[in-house]
Amino acid sequence: MVSRVIPVDPFDLVVFGGTGDLARRKILPGLYRRFRDGQIPETAQIIGAARSDMDAAAYRKQVAAALGEFLPARLLDKTRVQAFLDRIAYVKIDATGTGGWTDLKGKMRTGHVQVFYFSVAPGLFGGIAERLHKYKIAREGARIVAEKPFGNDLETARALNETLARYFGEHQIYRIDHYLGKETVQNLMAVRFGNMLFEPLWKNQYIDHVQITVAETVGVGGRGTYYDKSGAMRDMVQNHLMQLLCLTAMEPPSRFEPDAVRDEKLKVIRALEPVREGDIVRGQYLAGEVGGEATPSYLADVENAASLTESFVAMKVHVANWRWNGTPFYLRTGKRMKSRLSEIVVRFKEPPHSIFDEDTGQSANELRIRLQPNEGMDLSVTIKEPGPGGMRLMNVPLDMTFAEALGEEATDVPDAYERLIMDVIRGNQTLFMRGDEVEAAWAWTDPIISSWEAREARPAEYETGSTGPEEALILMHRDGRRWRELEA
Ligand code: NAP
Repeated sequence: MVSRVIPVDPFDLVVFGGTGDLARRKILPGLYRRFRDGQIPETAQIIGAARSDMDAAAYRKQVAAALGEFLPARLLDKTRVQAFLDRIAYVKIDATGTGGWTDLKGKMRTGHVQVFYFSVAPGLFGGIAERLHKYKIAREGARIVAEKPFGNDLETARALNETLARYFGEHQIYRIDHYLGKETVQNLMAVRFGNMLFEPLWKNQYIDHVQITVAETVGVGGRGTYYDKSGAMRDMVQNHLMQLLCLTAMEPPSRFEPDAVRDEKLKVIRALEPVREGDIVRGQYLAGEVGGEATPSYLADVENAASLTESFVAMKVHVANWRWNGTPFYLRTGKRMKSRLSEIVVRFKEPPHSIFDEDTGQSANELRIRLQPNEGMDLSVTIKEPGPGGMRLMNVPLDMTFAEALGEEATDVPDAYERLIMDVIRGNQTLFMRGDEVEAAWAWTDPIISSWEAREARPAEYETGSTGPEEALILMHRDGRRWRELEA
């Protein structure tokens, strides 16, 4: 396979929070990979911005260390790393103060795309936006990238949208949800809208149900205090799972263009029915063992024995429109589960009439879209079991694992972050959330969370390394369905 790398325009990219965890783990290594592949021009400038007192040389050392830590050694060609580090500057700046802003302005070059990446706590977004405007740093075409979480509920999301809108137009705001940058997620659109095969079947008449799972094996770890104020619903469902649901359920957009795609996603969110109380299961993990090591319970992790926050949620969701009437979407996400896995499973209906005997082993087709691990898709189809012994049927996957299909190059498939950053520089908002989309998602999530809070409902317990609480299995079983096994 020949990869086509189309270089982006020369740019100045300022990473607010350039010394933070996200910058070190994802943003800077991602930029290096794009630079190494020749997609980033040699004249680009990346400026780290944070309060820490250091000069550019010290910051470059930090960046070099981050590349060493988060990228495989085979990608770290000495000359390319040095050429990349030469593109890096640093400004000591306080998002809430006056220091550093004139300095930053001095580093901005005319004729270059301007990107300001807000990789800091959301509470600082407003202050940064205001100062970029006040010090006349951001020009007309500047773009800002806002990290998650985008608000904590409808009210805070709206306030944040309003604050940003004071200084930037919607066409300049890139709200990032890195799930949308994943290769498979975009492939979901390619498969649905680039083939004649699937779209005619993509409806309640042929699809029994859809399952969306995002399971993690880690606990809340060091993020306990933050997580306990948020929970799985706010941290995962309102954004990542909702985005996956939208892409699966949306109508074909007229074009693969930002507003055409986002309009269709928004219609899905607006078509979501309120979830019935009995259709949601919440859970908290118990103490257990991972890899032979004892792990604490959720309550111990967040140091709050009275916490009612969920580390797991499963729910049955209905999209109230012609296409999906009667075909439910089951969502589940949780921490400390059996495997780390993200996938969408589209389960088709059984053939209306079977010509084969009942015990031949026929089962329904399933399209499985795997986001991680092993990004790819497989479609299970029924075939005759080879060999003698009469008509016995078996299900085999037609497998499109990227690692196999693309060979060596699959290991170099861009990470979601690097793809999205390149889209920002290109000025393409298709894979970013629009303000009204985020607000609609909160408008759907808020009443569910408030009802839990009003009832002071205690989540069910579940074992570490399990598939979640028993009640989540029952949620499916009572409809005569079952979750797909949590296996990679
Ligand atoms: P972090 O490790 O705590 O880093 C925060 C960064 O902000 C540091 O560089 C810090 O540097 C800087 N900072 C703090 N206060 C500042 C101020 N007043 N003025 C200027 N800079 C300031 O946080 P993170 O994990 O990188 O997360 C950053 C953002 O990304 C957050 O919104 C988070 O929710 C989001 N996010 C993170 C991840 C992840 O995997 N880490 C994933 C998804 C979303 P100084 O202390 O030197 O100022």
